[in-house]
Amino acid sequence: MSKVRVRFAPSPTGFFHIGSARTALFNWLYARHTGGTFVLRIEDTDLARNTPESLECLMHGMKWLGLNWDEGPEVGGPYGPYFQSQRGDIYKEYLDKVLASGHAYEKEGAIWLKVSPEPQVINDAIRGRIERREDKDFVIARSNGLPVFHFVNVVDDIAMEITHVIRGEDHISNTSKHIEIFRAFDIEPPVYAHIPLILKSTGPGKMSKRDQGSLVEEYERRHFLPEALRNYLCLLGWSPKDDREILPIEEIIELFDLSGINKANARFDEKKLDHINAEYIRKLSIDDLASLARPLLIEAGLLTEKDGDDYLKEVLTISQEKMRSIENLPEFLGYFFKDDYSINEAAMEKILKQGKPQRRLQEILHALGDQEDFSESALEAMVKDLCAQNNVSPKDYIMPTRLAVSGQDVGPAFYSLLRVLGKEKVLARVARFIALCE
Ligand code: GLU
Repeated sequence: MSKVRVRFAPSPTGFFHIGSARTALFNWLYARHTGGTFVLRIEDTDLARNTPESLECLMHGMKWLGLNWDEGPEVGGPYGPYFQSQRGDIYKEYLDKVLASGHAYEKEGAIWLKVSPEPQVINDAIRGRIERREDKDFVIARSNGLPVFHFVNVVDDIAMEITHVIRGEDHISNTSKHIEIFRAFDIEPPVYAHIPLILKSTGPGKMSKRDQGSLVEEYERRHFLPEALRNYLCLLGWSPKDDREILPIEEIIELFDLSGINKANARFDEKKLDHINAEYIRKLSIDDLASLARPLLIEAGLLTEKDGDDYLKEVLTISQEKMRSIENLPEFLGYFFKDDYSINEAAMEKILKQGKPQRRLQEILHALGDQEDFSESALEAMVKDLCAQNNVSPKDYIMPTRLAVSGQDVGPAFYSLLRVLGKEKVLARVARFIALCE
C-alpha cells in the first residue's frame, strides 16, 4: 500500500468544536499509527463566512492538543497549513481539464459536472458498503467563476494525494458527488471513513456549538490538561477493546486503527472527562503542578510574585491526591494561604450535631501547644495518647480540628495538613474556632 496521507480540512467559520477536534485527532492518530503524513488544509473559500479569529482559534487549539501537522506550502520552514484561498490556480487548471475531457460543460455561465449512469459505491472503512445514486448533473463552478466546495475538496484530495478521508458522518451525503468528481478525473477515490456523530450529554440530538462544553477553547480557559482532553476525545468513538480509559498517547497511537472506530454514535460525557482530567492531575509531577497552580493562586490573590515555591510544593504534595481540577485550586487550597477562609456550613452543622466540640478542641489545643515535633508520626502518637487518656476515638479530635484549621471536612491526610500548616497557624486557628463555637 502506498504511504498513508490524511488531512484535516476545517472551514474557519466558527470556534473549534469538540467534534472537529475529534476529527482532527483521528486523522492525526491514523497518520502517526501508520507512519504516514498528516496535512492541515484550511477550507477558506467561503470568504463571507471566514473569520481570522476562527482560524487563530483552530490553529491554537490544534497546537494546544498536540496535533502537529506535517507539511505545508513552505516545506523546510515552519509548516503550513495549506489554504484553499491560495490555490485558485490549481482549481482553475483542474476545471480546464474536466471541461476539456468532456466530463463537464458550461450552462448559464456556470460549470456543471456530468454525472455517470452508474451508482456510487462508498466502501466505508467504518460503515461498510454504502450505495448511492447521484442522478442529476451538478454545479462545480458558479457563474462568478468560483469553484464550489465539492470541487475544491476533491481536487485538493487529488492534488495532495490523500489516501484516506476521515471525516464526520454528516459528509456521507456529499460523498456521492465527490466520487463522481474523482470519476471525472479517472482517479480512484480514497478510502472513506465516516466517523459517527457526537451526541449531547443528555437528551437526543447531536452536540452543537451552542451546547455547554462543546468548544475546545472552553477547556483551555478552564485549565483542563490538554493531554486529558485528548485522551477523552480518543474514547469518543474508539476504544482500546479492554476496560481501560486512561492510556498514554503512545499506546493509543500503537493501537489505533480505522477498524477500531465504532459505528454507533458516541455520547459526550462531561463526568467522564472530569474524571480523566482528575486522573491526569494526579499523575503530574509536583514541579509541573506547581507551575500550573502558581499563576492561578497569584491571580486569586493567594500568592504573590515574590513568594517562593517551597510552601506551595508542600501544599500540592499533600493535596494532589484529592484534587479534582486545576480550575478550582484557589477555592480548594485557599485556606493554606489565607486565614480568613470560610467555614463550610454543612460540615459545621454535622460537628455540632455530635455535641459541643469545645472540650475536645481544648484538649487537643493544649497538647498541640506542648508539641515540639510536628511530624506526622509524632502528631499521630500525640492524638493516640489523648484518646487513651480521655477514652475517645481519634475522629473525635480529627473532625473538629480539621474543620477548625481548614474550614472543610475533606482534604489532605490530617497529620500532613497540620504539619504543612505549621504549629503557629494551627494553634491560632483552633483557638479562634473555639471562640466561634461559644
Ligand atoms: N471543510 C469541510 C468541513 O469542515 C471538510 C469536509 C471534509 O473533511 O472533506 O466540514
